[in-house]
Amino acid sequence: MKQFQKTSELQSYLKSSGKSIGFVPTMGALHEGHLALIEASRSACDLTVCSIFVNPTQFNDPTDFDKYPVTLEADLEKLQEAGCDVVFYPSVSEMYPNGTADLKSYDLGFLETILEGKYRPGHFQGVCVVVDLLLQAVQPTKLYMGEKDYQQIAVVQKMLELTNSSVELVRCPTVRSAEGLALSSRNARLSEEQKVQALAIYKGFNLPSESAFKQSLLDNGFESIDYVACVDPQTLQEKPYGEKPCLILVAAFIGGVRLIDNKTLS
Ligand code: AMP
Repeated sequence: MKQFQKTSELQSYLKSSGKSIGFVPTMGALHEGHLALIEASRSACDLTVCSIFVNPTQFNDPTDFDKYPVTLEADLEKLQEAGCDVVFYPSVSEMYPNGTADLKSYDLGFLETILEGKYRPGHFQGVCVVVDLLLQAVQPTKLYMGEKDYQQIAVVQKMLELTNSSVELVRCPTVRSAEGLALSSRNARLSEEQKVQALAIYKGFNLPSESAFKQSLLDNGFESIDYVACVDPQTLQEKPYGEKPCLILVAAFIGGVRLIDNKTLS
């Protein structure tokens, strides 16, 4: 597995390849969810590139950024074992040589006003900035992202349109623990007890109303809830709770850790 920290070195390596490239951007602390994206890329592309970069511009909460798990050595081992061809792990100054004060902005419209956009102001601008920069560096054929971050996929698709990109965005299903907890790097910050309590999210998707879902989260140790919402899976427009086909999305805090998850009911 080739390893790069400098964009210029990554680019000169990839330029000569002449192969189809699958790209998996991550923030590290890798788990089976990330590795499923690597596998999907490997099965469709000649070369798989993974980036590890904890992007400061997408954290609206500085504490969340400071506490984000960093496990580079273990990540590199997992990627090697998974058959990833190239890993790119730039520093903040490599990605943002001119600082982060004056960055490109994207007209995301409605998408930025709802759900994660509403509760994490600026988050999706940061996501678009970093994914746009990474795509310029890697110039992949396909981009692999997980449905765990459902709204993020819609946002990145919009960014690709706004930038006239020809990259194909491939969405991959959410990988869960055997019990149903969506794998997330932030789960590393939960106690064993909190991981069991957090299963209330998965079980809650079967409850008949938003209020029953919220009550169940509160009864199971969640201290606060940003939203439980029911939307059209295509447009993300809100619709009557549980009216199929629909997508139920949730964001809630347990042990100070903000978890998100979603499930399509068809
Ligand atoms: P992150 O490192 O959390 O920024 O995630 C990097 C990529 O992995 C994103 O496209 C996520 O949607 C995806 N991802 C994270 N967790 C999961 C999961 N449990 N199942 C599938 N994809 C995931």
